[in-house]
Amino acid sequence: MTGRVSLVGAGPGDAGLLTVRGLRALEAADVIVADRLGARGVLDGLAADGVELRAEVVDVGKLPGHHAVPQDGINALLVHLAREGKNVVRLKGGDPYVFGRGGEELAFCQEAGVEVIVVPGITSAISVPALAGIPLTHRGLATAFTVVTGHDQIESLSGGRDHTVVLLMGVGTLAHSALTLARGERGAECPVAVVEDGFGPRQRVTVGTLATIAAQAAERGIRSPAVVVVGDVVRISPFAPAELAVGALDVSDEHTARLAAEQL
Ligand code: SAH
Repeated sequence: MTGRVSLVGAGPGDAGLLTVRGLRALEAADVIVADRLGARGVLDGLAADGVELRAEVVDVGKLPGHHAVPQDGINALLVHLAREGKNVVRLKGGDPYVFGRGGEELAFCQEAGVEVIVVPGITSAISVPALAGIPLTHRGLATAFTVVTGHDQIESLSGGRDHTVVLLMGVGTLAHSALTLARGERGAECPVAVVEDGFGPRQRVTVGTLATIAAQAAERGIRSPAVVVVGDVVRISPFAPAELAVGALDVSDEHTARLAAEQL
């Protein structure tokens, strides 16, 4: 009898942010094929909480640029295990469908005649900025957000500071991305936050502007994994320096001036 594959989103790395459905899938699994980013932290967190999983764990160790097992190998492994009759969980960081190649794994398994179910996860694109107190939309500050990778052609990204940009896998290309975005409508003074290792031991927040962030990243030795947020919503963060904070809004802004006057 053929087994099946569950593509499960592990969330950003904290076991508390795994879904209940995801936990049930892990408990029922014979084999867990896990990424390192996100997934490993969740498995360790569950073990620390006393959750005992009977499944064998295969670590395919995916970090940006360091694929212990290439994607073809992962695809083949999933199909091979399912054909052995195993109940396989493919545990992926964040949400399987956000820059996670989940769609490719799904298609490969289905083409091989293997049943696949998908359990969504909490993406780092939204949950990691929240750690720095940053909502991606906020009335009066941002009405939309776009999630892209540092490798994407961000040249074509339109919009101003009220259109939040979230960069995943964006550390290596941060200087270039900042320069590109600064040339557009957002401008060099647009606020930027970088949140490293969200929910992990190296969690750290750096706030600056498109003009300053590359130098700050170099100075502070900013490392992957990190989520970069660009836009006026960054000003809400308690990590924002006074000159960027919402309270320091330009008084030439009539609406803000009126609100400020009303509060006096
Ligand atoms: N599918 C994943 C994203 C995979 S791309 C998701 O939905 O979250 C990998 C990128 O996600 C990393 O380079 C980094 O930009 C981001 N990322 C994932 N987990 C993170 C974390 N705990 N802290 C900071 N960034 C994280």
